[in-house]
Amino acid sequence: MTEKPKIVVGVDLDGVCADFYGRMREIAAEWFEKPLEDLPADVSYGLREWGVQDRNQYESLHRFAVTQRGLFSSMPMIPGARKFLRKLSDEGYRIRIITHRLFIHYFHASSVQQTVEWLDSHGIPYWDLCFMKEKEQVGADIYIEDTPDNIAQLRERGLHTICFANSTNTHIQMPRASSWEEVYFLVNNRKGYLIG
Ligand SMILES: [Mg+2]
Repeated sequence: MTEKPKIVVGVDLDGVCADFYGRMREIAAEWFEKPLEDLPADVSYGLREWGVQDRNQYESLHRFAVTQRGLFSSMPMIPGARKFLRKLSDEGYRIRIITHRLFIHYFHASSVQQTVEWLDSHGIPYWDLCFMKEKEQVGADIYIEDTPDNIAQLRERGLHTICFANSTNTHIQMPRASSWEEVYFLVNNRKGYLIG
């Protein structure tokens, strides 16, 4: 008997499963030697509110964060990610993690290692793990993503993308979810459309 194909849910990590901005804020405070309170919690993509001025600075801070502070293994989980991904997985969805964490060269080994350790230690269920910039090429039926440019690109190609709400994407249109419970609800709603 052939198994019927599963609905693939493409799940971003940073800002969706892992509290990237919360942990980066602590590391950026250290990097700039500023009190944590001086860095606003509501930040936009690129971190300019914290004093990051350009792409080079962003990359330096990011490299420091990953190689010296274990960024990818030390981020708190966004509440609900484990519970609702497990629920979706148990209900027959195929969880495919899609992340663009290898965008800076020469520390890929530790980026990948920190990522898989983090996923295991937080009990996040998944079948596939893709380190990809071009997320649309991954072939998911439903995407969950927080970066405005990625959401725009995916939606332009007609791919159903749920925006996981945070301070970087307040201008992005529906469908939006401000919690994992809402993601679960929206994914289930979409299922009806996908299976007809
Ligand atoms: Mg993200």
